[in-house]
Amino acid sequence: MRILLFSSQHYDQESFSQAAIDSGLELHFQPARLTLDTAPLGQGFAVVCAFINDELDAEVLECLASGGTRLIALRSAGYNHVDLAAAARLGLTVVRVPAYSPHAVAEHAVALILALNRRLHRAYNRTRDGDFTLHGLTGFDLHGKTVGVVGTGQIGATFARIMAGFGCRLLAYDPQPNPELLALGARYLELPELLSESRIISLHCPLTDATRHLINARSLASLQPGAMLINTGRGALVDTPALIDALKNGQLGYLGLDVYEEEAQLFFEDRSDQPLQDDVLARLLTFPNVIVTAHQAFLTQEALAAIAATTLDNVLHWAAGDARNTVTG
Ligand code: NAD
Repeated sequence: MRILLFSSQHYDQESFSQAAIDSGLELHFQPARLTLDTAPLGQGFAVVCAFINDELDAEVLECLASGGTRLIALRSAGYNHVDLAAAARLGLTVVRVPAYSPHAVAEHAVALILALNRRLHRAYNRTRDGDFTLHGLTGFDLHGKTVGVVGTGQIGATFARIMAGFGCRLLAYDPQPNPELLALGARYLELPELLSESRIISLHCPLTDATRHLINARSLASLQPGAMLINTGRGALVDTPALIDALKNGQLGYLGLDVYEEEAQLFFEDRSDQPLQDDVLARLLTFPNVIVTAHQAFLTQEALAAIAATTLDNVLHWAAGDARNTVTG
């Protein structure tokens, strides 16, 4: 069976080629992002494999279905970019990778916290420039600080375990509390209380209608002055222009983003020789207390191997009439 992988990068080729050995599956790696313009490339492929910034709206799905595609195999956990109603109407099955490595994402959130707090990004540049001064590099002990975890599923719970190891107090918000968090001593609160009581807030909930712009001008105004916000969830959990105001007036003391609302037009490509057209991102990148990474939290060897293995397993089960990890609206 032939599979077309859109948005495939060098690391996808490595992990998927390794996972496909002896599977009988024929992989075609397509570096282009899936959009209405590139969807015709799916002609004749029963299986199309897509990543998070591929477009899977009704028009694209119609084009794929008319070209013979029957299965959309997402190599991601998130599926907020898929028009599931259209997929169902067109008879397309959608499968995903519900879990690959919660450690990869949780550890990246912690990396952002440590780098921002101890200002590693500034220290790195400073020492390379022969400047060995310490002014402006003062951090704070994580021990004893209050950390708010928004979304306490697999990644949020893994993140909470790590922060408990630092000796942090844990607050949590999730419509479905996780007993594991309670065992760690976390207190579940409503979101406004969590936001006003936390020194560090980390977002680990999915993007849905209910969570879009969960962090906005109003919620930012309720933070402790100088609080730290980390978003490794999805860009649209946060109203990004509101972050700029909160950074300018000091309400937000630190910001770590691995995801950005407008990332689909930017991330995963080298644009270093072009002027950045996105003024919001450009302004964010001017703050010394902001670190932006380009959706790399998932990028560990273990996660890539697990993503490839589960995706191909999903395809084989679907082909055998036993579809697993399906996503429905
Ligand atoms: P999960 O399904 O295990 O956990 C999500 C949790 O969010 C659940 O406990 C759910 O009850 C909770 N939730 C739902 N609605 C909520 C709301 N309104 N407020 C607060 N919590 C809410 O998912 P996961 O594997 O932990 O992944 C979490 C998210 O992380 C994914 O949806 C995805 O968007 C993001 N993610 C990012 C990367 C990355 O590379 N940056 C990689 C993987 C996943």
